[in-house]
Formats: sequence, C-alpha cells, structure tokens
Amino acid sequence: MLKGTFPVARFSSLKTPFYYYDMDLLARTLDELRAQMARYPDYRMHYAVKANFNPEILRLIASAGFGADCVSGGEVQAALDAGFAAKDIVFAGVGKADWEINLALEAGIGRFNVESLPELEVLDALAGARGAVAPVSLRVNPDIGAHTHANITTGLAENKFGIAYEMLEEVIRRALSLEHVAFKGLHFHIGSQILEMDDFVALCNRVNELSARLSRHGLPVGDINVGGGLGIQYQHPNHFPMADFAGYFATFKKHLAVKPGTPVHFELGRSIVAPCGSLICRVLYVKQGTSRQFAIIDGSMTELIRPALYKAYHRIENLSSDEPEEVYDVVGPVCESSDVFAKAVEIDRCHRGDFIAIRSAGAYGEAMASRYNLHTLPEAFFDWRR
Ligand SMILES: *Cc1c(COP(=O)(O)O)cnc(C)c1O
Repeated sequence: MLKGTFPVARFSSLKTPFYYYDMDLLARTLDELRAQMARYPDYRMHYAVKANFNPEILRLIASAGFGADCVSGGEVQAALDAGFAAKDIVFAGVGKADWEINLALEAGIGRFNVESLPELEVLDALAGARGAVAPVSLRVNPDIGAHTHANITTGLAENKFGIAYEMLEEVIRRALSLEHVAFKGLHFHIGSQILEMDDFVALCNRVNELSARLSRHGLPVGDINVGGGLGIQYQHPNHFPMADFAGYFATFKKHLAVKPGTPVHFELGRSIVAPCGSLICRVLYVKQGTSRQFAIIDGSMTELIRPALYKAYHRIENLSSDEPEEVYDVVGPVCESSDVFAKAVEIDRCHRGDFIAIRSAGAYGEAMASRYNLHTLPEAFFDWRR
C-alpha cells in the first residue's frame, strides 16, 4: 500500500508511542499559507494554539509571522513564550477566569473575543482597575450548522458559544457605553473539519446580513473574524498533504462583503498542523478473535483520543512490512471498549514489533493526550530533513 516516507531506521532507539512531526511539511505549509494570504492584504491569520501547543511547533509558526488564537490563559502564556507578538494574539472562550483576563491585559494582547454580557462587564472592571482599555470583538453565535461531527459544531443556537444573534445589538450598545472596553469588531467560529465550502458561504451570508442590519441601525461593525474550521483530507494524506487554502480564501473573498481596508481575521488550527504529525506506535500482539483479528498496538486513546471521542478516521500504515494486506481491528491497550483506532482496516500484514504510523495526527492529538491508566505523556520527534 502507499505509505508516507518516514526515517524508520531512526525510530528503533525511540520509545513508542511518540509523535513524529514532519517539520519540513509544516514549513512548506506555512510558506503556502503566506503565499496565498499575500494575495489578500487585509487578511490576518491567528493560528489556533489549542490544535497543537508543542513549543517547537509554536515557535515555527510564530517565526513565520502569524498571530495566535488562544482559548485560555495558559495558551496566551505559551503563545507569548513562543514569540508571538502580543498585539497579534486574540483570546476567545466562554469562561475566561479573572486571572486569565488579567494575564492577557498585562501582556497587552490584540483582542478579547467576548462571549457574553457578564464577561464584557467583568472585562471592563478588570481593565478599569489597571487604567487600561481592552480591545474587544463580540463573538456572535450565528446559528448556522456545519456539515461536520456534532461534537465539533459550535455555531448553532443550542451550542454554548457566543452571544445570541438577537441580543447582539444590546451588547454592542453596552460595549460602546463602557469606558474600559473598546468595541473593535465581530467574531464568529462555526465548527471544525469543514470541507464543504458552502458552510463558509453560509457564514459569509450571515455576516453580511448582520453587518447590514447593524449599519442600518447606526451601529458600528468594526472588523470581522471568521474563526477557523477548514478541514483536511484524513483519507488521503499521501495525495493531499496540504489543506485547500486557496479555495478557502477565495470563498471568503467572493462571498464576504467588507469595505476595502477592513481587516478580516482567520483562526485556522487543524488545517495548518494536522498533516505534519503522525503517531508512531509498535505492534505488541496480533490476536485472532472468533470473527476478526486484532492488531494490538502500544499507542492508545491516551495519546490520540480523536477516534474514541469523535469516531474520527485516521489512515493507518504499517511502516515495517511490505507483505500482503490483511484486515485488522487496530486497538490500544487502555481498558475502554472505545480504545479502538480503526475497525476492519486493511494494512500490510502485522508482526510483533512492527512500526505503525497513525497519520494526520498533528492537530488535537498530542494536545489532548492524557495520563489515563497512568500512561506517560508521549514524546515528540521533530524531523527537519530535506
Ligand atoms: C478551535 C478554534 C479554532 C480552530 O479551529 P480549527 O478547526 O482547528 O481550524 C478557531 N477559533 C476558535 C474560537 C476555536 O475555538
């Protein structure tokens, strides 16, 4: 079967499971992103730190000149430590604690993406206490679905995120009346792993409709942050190692109505880092069941929880074998029935000790690792070859 190219000879001294990062692919992805964005001078990218906050990865993305999108005080600190400019950091989250807001005020971040009226008032008070004015965008719940997994849609009225569409005008008026917040724009984010450009078209239409209404009512709109969510081709990492950034930006260019010179902010996470990462594991046992055969590997849901949590698909390749494919359930050792990477997949015949690559695991992989079952957190191996 077709496989990625991995320096397998260098793996034998490493403790599995570990995350393998193709830093050359990440660098080329950042180059491509920069090249695409150069066509749209008003577009600004803030990498969504939660997708992967490994310091090495953050440093490379920061050095490429992008900003950061954070959802906690810990992420704001990690972004600052990695060299992201404070003015290019945006901070979202429905439940920002006082210490997190204070940390962000102290650093002088570029934007607070505020998700409720009570949060706006707390921000005003905390900024006031230090004689500061906090730059604010209001996160709007646009009440539109995306064609993705229910657990990763965020833009429906039933989701906890953002300010209800109907309450927006009231909250903008309140923001304008407060002394220690400066209203700067609107923020949206409809979900993740979105491959249907029509979902982004629906978002654009919603934004256009909303800004027209605000303008009619004499309210400012400011700049627009359309969030992230662009998906990748999990099925075909060897054919499509990069997300369709060109198509993505072209969609917004075509459908989003903004006055020339208005900044448009983006917050991509997954599409930037997912393709460059693989979880490398070894086969522990090949076990025959009554109706199926299991490849039991040393990696599990504690290193990569997406299959267990979202039934997410990751392509699995045996890097050590070129023998004919067989059908396996690929499972980890954790004591949970959901600790399964794939059921009935064809991979090259497995033997104890074979290296297995679980592909496209650079986003929401290492970042979501846990110590459940007292596993140790996975190490990372950075490949800067080529
Ligand atoms: C998670 C998140 C993103 C990034 O989403 P991706 O699907 O990884 O691109 C962007 N903005 C906000 C507010 C988020 O919570």
